[in-house]
Amino acid sequence: VVIADQVRMGFGDVEVLRGVDLEVDAGEVACIVGPSGSGKSTFLRCINGLETVEQGSLRVLDQQVGFELGNGKYHPWSAKRFATFRTDIGMVFQRFNLFAHQSVIENVMCAQVQVAGRSKKVAHDEAVAQLERVGLSEHAHKKPHQLSGGQQQRVAIARALAMHPKVMLFDEPTSALDPELVDEVLVVMKALAEDGMTMVVVTHEIGFAREVGDTLSMFADGVIIEHGRARDVLDDPQHERTRNFLASVR
Ligand code: ATP
Ligand code: MG
Repeated sequence: VVIADQVRMGFGDVEVLRGVDLEVDAGEVACIVGPSGSGKSTFLRCINGLETVEQGSLRVLDQQVGFELGNGKYHPWSAKRFATFRTDIGMVFQRFNLFAHQSVIENVMCAQVQVAGRSKKVAHDEAVAQLERVGLSEHAHKKPHQLSGGQQQRVAIARALAMHPKVMLFDEPTSALDPELVDEVLVVMKALAEDGMTMVVVTHEIGFAREVGDTLSMFADGVIIEHGRARDVLDDPQHERTRNFLASVR
């Protein structure tokens, strides 16, 4: 589903990704850890085309992200092409970014109507189903500020799922939450993994990575310095930086 081969990109003179290799198969949960500034969020943003890969190759859902082959040359995608591509990729951020003036169910309906072009009826039924899936049926008509952080993050997940994504990207989805609210979000993510969703998850929740993660990649300075089965890397990290990092977040 995702094949990154020596992916490089930077901002101006600063190289942020310096040759990232990663493969994520269908139905896999790929966890990513690593220190602040190591390029984790930038890599996720490359996967959904929010940043442009400058060198190397990044294939997502059998497409070269951002580029189309025509007449033997690669041409950049149009805005419309990007928009179509992104409907297949759900993204959940640390900050939930819900629309404050809309109710929960309106938040889950919005992109379905405006981006996917569904009717209000279809979008509404889908929203009801996704809110049930994340355990928030009773809160459909509240405003985001009436919910806890954990509930708001579950709304953000429901909103992404309503678009029927083929891949879900999570960028530290529980890092902004009070500790007692972390588990309710991880439970939803675990259920999603059990349903077979392909997921790339930046997280420092080591328990989640061990239990739910198939692979674990350790980012440092814009490259993956260690990668393997999640359990193997967590139980027996080979790289000193991985050992030090894991010790700091456990
Ligand atoms: P964190 O754990 O703090 O979220 P991260 O691993 O997600 O860190 P990134 O957000 O990918 O790291 O950032 C990697 C580097 O790229 C950092 O040095 C950051 O300052 C830089 N960077 C990120 N976005 C931009 C931008 N839009 N313009 C310039 N530099 C940027
Ligand atoms: Mg980040």
